[in-house]
Amino acid sequence: MAILLFPPRCPLCDRVVDVRFPGICGSCRSMQESLGLLVKEPACKKCGKPLEDSTEEYCADCRKKPHSFRQGRAAWIYRGPCKSALYRFKYGNRRCYAPVLAQELWKSCGGWVKRKAPDAIVPVPLHRKKQRERGYNQAALLSGELSRLCGIPVREDLLYRKVYTRPLKELSEGQRHRELKHAFRVHTRGGIPARVLLVDDIYTTGSTTDACAFALCEAGVEEVYVLCMCIGR
Ligand SMILES: [Zn+2]
Ligand SMILES: [Zn+2]
Repeated sequence: MAILLFPPRCPLCDRVVDVRFPGICGSCRSMQESLGLLVKEPACKKCGKPLEDSTEEYCADCRKKPHSFRQGRAAWIYRGPCKSALYRFKYGNRRCYAPVLAQELWKSCGGWVKRKAPDAIVPVPLHRKKQRERGYNQAALLSGELSRLCGIPVREDLLYRKVYTRPLKELSEGQRHRELKHAFRVHTRGGIPARVLLVDDIYTTGSTTDACAFALCEAGVEEVYVLCMCIGR
């Protein structure tokens, strides 16, 4: 049997799986269910965050501040093994997770995406310098695999990051907002799609996606929807 250079792995436990059955392995699948790591209803009608209180329509964040995007959805909760999976995908060169993650995302949110009927998929861009250091943009990998599943084209040329920002984890909410406000720009030469599906790996406060959506709308995009692999509580 040929030895694969990049054998398929289960993103949640990182173990190599049988090539005939790529995806989340059986034990991780049941663990994910039992730990409640899949996003389910009731979820915030704006950002898609699971709601603690089912009588509310919006999460505490979305009740406090408006967003520049129309609506967002995510597949997994950013916690435990889902969190470590994204860490390896982003910083550990586990690009091989991309097709599995996209499949999971499509399984969970594909119906929603179809209803929104976006004209283009746009990954949240990394600054050139950061992309050079890391070697790839995880959001672009996810976008490419999603595009293969749904046939909606990726427009990686549309949005770019002009300003190199400090790690957002170190900043307060107000600082994040200021730091990101003018960080993104749009190239108009390839045409401006009416509806965009913005794709990223993680949604927490929404400050990055908001800044991207703001730049896209300023450039003439009419509706921006957000699709993320994981969402924080
Ligand atoms: Zn597994
Ligand atoms: Zn919300």
